[in-house]
Amino acid sequence: MHFETFFRDRLDSLKDEGNYRVFHDLERKRGAFPRAMRHCGTGQRDVTVWCSNDYLGMGQHPKVIGAMHDALDRLGAGAGGTRNISGTTHAHVELEHELADLHGKEAALVFTSGYVSNWAALGTLASQIPGCIVFSDALNHASMIEGIRHSRAQKVIWKHNDLQDLEAKLAAAPADAPKLIAFESVYSMDGDIAPIKEICDIADRYGAMTYLDEVHAVGLYGPRGAGIAEREGLMDRLTVIEGTLGKAYGVVGGYIAASAALCDFVRSFSSGFIFTTALPPSVMAGAAASIRHLKSSQTERDLHQLRVQQLRDKLDAAGIPHMPNPSHIVPVMVGDPVKCKYISDLLLDDFGIYIQPINYPTVPKGTERLRITPSPVHSEADLDHLVASLGKLWAQCQLARLPMAAQ
Ligand SMILES: *Cc1c(COP(=O)(O)O)cnc(C)c1O
Repeated sequence: MHFETFFRDRLDSLKDEGNYRVFHDLERKRGAFPRAMRHCGTGQRDVTVWCSNDYLGMGQHPKVIGAMHDALDRLGAGAGGTRNISGTTHAHVELEHELADLHGKEAALVFTSGYVSNWAALGTLASQIPGCIVFSDALNHASMIEGIRHSRAQKVIWKHNDLQDLEAKLAAAPADAPKLIAFESVYSMDGDIAPIKEICDIADRYGAMTYLDEVHAVGLYGPRGAGIAEREGLMDRLTVIEGTLGKAYGVVGGYIAASAALCDFVRSFSSGFIFTTALPPSVMAGAAASIRHLKSSQTERDLHQLRVQQLRDKLDAAGIPHMPNPSHIVPVMVGDPVKCKYISDLLLDDFGIYIQPINYPTVPKGTERLRITPSPVHSEADLDHLVASLGKLWAQCQLARLPMAAQ
């Protein structure tokens, strides 16, 4: 086999479909974010980022940066080992206490990313519990899917957010089999929210464990930023709550929060937790500062929701179609991969607006979109510039507009 030819052919077909991923080379400006400098062939240009998961701008918050500087200067760069062999620093212990407290659980366990936390925790639980059957929502994130696949446990996929389908599938499984229901609160591409209470009610009827990914909700919802389950008073009903430190908290890392025994079990049996170098103490300190700030400050969450509403109102006024949902994610639907990438390129080159096109396989074919994430660090003038630019491109690309009344 001629390997180079094989690689190039496969990449060429991705490009023909419009599904080839192009990374933009950005330099965020601390204090000026969502402004960033874009490096490209023709030089450098200022852009406004509209697709970041640093939902609240905590990545540039003075308390976060200060805590990271302080830890770096006091403690040095790396953790220096796996958690087991010299890598558990006091910063890790403190962060895990902070996280357990956030979610009202006995314990928490930090992983190198949210992806790894899902992969490792689900993989460990599903493989180590004898005969475990995993009931996985059809739109679960790749990290959950891979963790379940890796466990080799039996997997049953239920229709997205469909309680009847979930219950029918639980009822069809052997009554005495251990069961685990895996789902998310805010789904990242459509921005819809799971009926957590009803899922917990069903889980109770069938004696199932519940595993909730709150990656797109932690920091953003609930009186202390613990997510949708906190907002709805349901945290104690979930067996495991999983989150990230890399999105609204603005740093990097992932975690689970659960009972002391469950966390100790995953700590003791999970390869993805044990055999990797612990995150640097400065990262742990920055994440802890971010969580602590958002536990007591509602300002960022309020302004976040206001900007989301303002963007929706302005899109409606311009007749630009977006998917309605109860969260902070604003998907502007294009429905064609080539047009989606084309609009994204024009926004960047002609208007200084960066929104990554979201194409297959991240979303189903025919639902290609611009996934917009307004934040408290975007101004109203930023919103106006965005909507005016989209309006021009909608006309230029002859994309359908909705009559204002239909919205
Ligand atoms: C981003 C994401 C993850 C992974 O979290 P990282 O910290 O980025 O690795 C997990 N679940 C969902 C739903 C996500 O969108």
